[in-house]
Order: sequence, then C-alpha cells, then structure tokens
Amino acid sequence: MNYLSTRGHPDRKRFCEILLEGLAPDGGLYLPDHYPQVDAATLAKWRNLPYAELAFEILSLYIDDIPPADLKAICAKTYTPEVFGTEEIVPLRELEDGVYLEALSNGPTLAFKDMAMQLLGNLFEYELARRGAELNILGATSGDTGSAAEYAMRGKKGVRVFMTSPDGRMSPFQQAQMFSLQDENIHNIAITGVFDDCQDIVKAVSNDLGFKRKYRIGTVNSINWARLLAQVVYYFAGYFQATASNDKPVSFTVPSGNFGNVCAGHVARMMGLPIQTLVVATNENDVLDEFFRTGIYRVRAAADTHETSSPSMDISKASNFERFVFDLVGRDAARLRSLFVDELGGQGRFDLSGDPAFRQAAERFGFKSSRSTHADRLATIRDTDKRFATLVDPHTADGLKAAREHLAPGVPMVVLETALPIKFAATLVEALGHEPARPARFEGIEALPKRVVKLPSDVEAVKAYIAQNCD
Ligand SMILES: *Cc1c(COP(=O)(O)O)cnc(C)c1O
Repeated sequence: MNYLSTRGHPDRKRFCEILLEGLAPDGGLYLPDHYPQVDAATLAKWRNLPYAELAFEILSLYIDDIPPADLKAICAKTYTPEVFGTEEIVPLRELEDGVYLEALSNGPTLAFKDMAMQLLGNLFEYELARRGAELNILGATSGDTGSAAEYAMRGKKGVRVFMTSPDGRMSPFQQAQMFSLQDENIHNIAITGVFDDCQDIVKAVSNDLGFKRKYRIGTVNSINWARLLAQVVYYFAGYFQATASNDKPVSFTVPSGNFGNVCAGHVARMMGLPIQTLVVATNENDVLDEFFRTGIYRVRAAADTHETSSPSMDISKASNFERFVFDLVGRDAARLRSLFVDELGGQGRFDLSGDPAFRQAAERFGFKSSRSTHADRLATIRDTDKRFATLVDPHTADGLKAAREHLAPGVPMVVLETALPIKFAATLVEALGHEPARPARFEGIEALPKRVVKLPSDVEAVKAYIAQNCD
C-alpha cells in the first residue's frame, strides 16, 4: 500500500514512513492511494472475530511493511480486556428501539482516543526499536488527545511527549489526568491561548523542516493516519454487533471536532462496509454542520471559538476535513490545493454550494449533520438518565441529539460514545445535581502534585523548551 499527500506531492510512502510523520512535506495530509474493498465473503469471515483479530485483518490491508506475525502480536497486546475493560472491547447496547450506544471510552483515560492511541504507542515502540531511533512527539490537545497520548507513551523507550494544551481550559479532571503524570518522558506545556493556538504552534514547528529533523519531531494529532486507521476498526465491530447479517445497512452518529473519528467512518464506508448515513454531530462550534448544510466551509478565528460544555469539540477548523474534501472533489489534488491553500488560506473560507460535488457529500458519501447547544446537552443528559438510567457525557449527548434527527425506519443508528461522564463532571452536576461515579483508579487525582510548564502562545518559546529538554 502506498500513501500520497492530498496536496499532490509526487512522493509515495509506505505505512511505517508516515507512521512517524505528521503532515506531508507540502502541508497536505496522507491518505492511502486507494481504499481496499471488502466484499460480502470477507465481511462474513470477519463477523465473529475477536476485536484484536479484526483489527489485525483491517490493519493488514493498509500495512505491508510490518511482518504479519509482528502486526498480529501488536494488535493482541493492544486490545485486551485488561486495558479496555470488556471482552468485546467496544460493547454495543441498545438504548431505545433502533438507537444504540457503542462504548469506546473504557480505556485508560476514559475517552475514545485510547482506541487509537494505545495502538500507536505500541506501533511507535516497535518501529523505533527496529530503527534504533528516538522520537519527540509534539501534540496539541483540548483535553482528551493529550491524556490518551501520554498514557499510551509513558515509560515507552525512545519516545518523549511534549503536549501543549490551552491553559485553564480543560476540566479539572482532565488537567489532573495529564499533569499528575510524573514520568520523565512526559512534558506538559500549558499555552496562554485556545486550542487552535496550540494546534497552530504544532503545525508551525512541523513545517520547520530543519527543526523537525534535528529534534526528530513527530505527532500524535488526529492528522496521523495510523490513528485514523485504528478507528476504522470499531465501525466494523459496531456494525457486526448491530446486525445479524451483512446485507443490512447501519448508520452512525459521531460527535465531531477535528473530523478524525467520523473520517474513519468515511474510510470504512469507502471500503464497502454497509453504512447508510454518517451523521456529523457538532456543538456551538458548528463549522462542520454549516458545511454539510450549506456547502460553505468557513473557519473561525480563535477569538470566535466558543468555550462550550463539550470542550473536546471546540474547534474552529477541522484538521482532518481536508481528507474528506479530497475524496469529495474526486481526488483532484490541484483542486484541493486551490480550495485549501488559495481560498481558505486567502479568505478563510471556500464555497462549494454551487458545485455538483457538494450534493455528493450527502448522496454519494452519506453525510448529514446536526448542531447542539448547551441547553440541548443538558436536556439530553437528563432525559437519558431518566428514561434509560444511563449517564452520558456531554459529547455523547450531542451525538444522541443529532442521531434522533436522522433516524430512518429499520436502519439501526449507532451513536459513538466518545467519553465517560466523569471526565466532564461539572456539566453532569449542572444537569443532574450530582457527580457521576468515578472509577476507583482515579480517586483523588485532582490533589496529586502537578508536572506542567506555562508558556506564551509563541512558536519560538515552544521550540526553545523542546531543545532544552532533548539531551
Ligand atoms: C476528540 C473528541 C471528540 C472529537 O473527535 P474528532 O475526531 O476530533 O472529531 C469528541 N468527543 C470527545 C470526548 C473527544 O475526546
């Protein structure tokens, strides 16, 4: 399998080359040069596989530069009941007639990002050992990515993590999860600014090729293809649990921010998994909902990014969206470049409303969208508690609300549960008047000593900090 850049760079790369990279050299995102097709016989063969073996089968279609026996061992070591809490790894439960919750949040940091990050930690360790190399991971997080990355990489040989986060904007629980780690290879950097400032810093550092090479900078942001690939697996696992046979369509609703999670659903659908609709659920930061309603993609300034009660979706531009638009415009890299570099780079927006391609977003690619507000979130959390005795976190609540706006008779709707409620206790308290239950291993973490430095929103300051801590 070869990987190409969405912006047309002529190089083709193998999986393990892009595993340790972020953006392509031309600023584009990596994608496989084709989507392997999965036929009915293959689906039938996969239907009853344990999760780790299903992961191995899917990953094998995209990874041909790791010996199969090694890849199989990596999957087996990653997706265990010890790490993810159940034999099913991503158990599905029916909430009400036709509406399901797929649990993706029972990993070490209680958010779905563990699903990909735990695999990435093991892939990184394997590949770095094979090369005798080291890597310094630079990341940006609004909460869940950072903790997932740190718990996946802590204590791993050959890896350091430098994780930027917007100072004071994460929940106390999220801050405690990250900042309480005392591992020497984990560096928390609180940036004076919002998440997009952090993301811009990561992009700027990654675009400085000299610095990137000298300090062996890698990334674990959602633009990393390996993460996206790992996420493809649970669409298949969810599909198999929601159906009894492979001729039935299923729809998914995905709480979305950077468009990584739902982009994995797009990939699964492109491979031939019978997905009818992919519902993109956003909060008040509705760049994506606006695009799917109007055809206009208009990024917001950092100052216009709302601080909401589903903070892991507080983005003003969706870093993975370019991957989908690449497919939407028929993989025309010149067109893609003019949209993302000229128009978005110039005017902060592009407009596909008059383009036949835009109609295909729904018709050919199955995308629909909805937007939620704080009031919707609270109402959904209360309603779900009252009617089903189930607590959902604010992001999953955004998903549930969106899902109900796009139900189709006879088609199961699977809502991806992206975090456990304890990560966002304040909103649960606001909705219900009490705290959600806390897993015993997180008892009292807010009181633990914190390991974090504060830096201004300045690329040079972050570079200097990395240089100091890389000897
Ligand atoms: C990261 C995250 C999201 C958004 O996922 P994307 O892949 O960025 O679209 C939604 N909910 C939670 C809880 C998250 O941590």
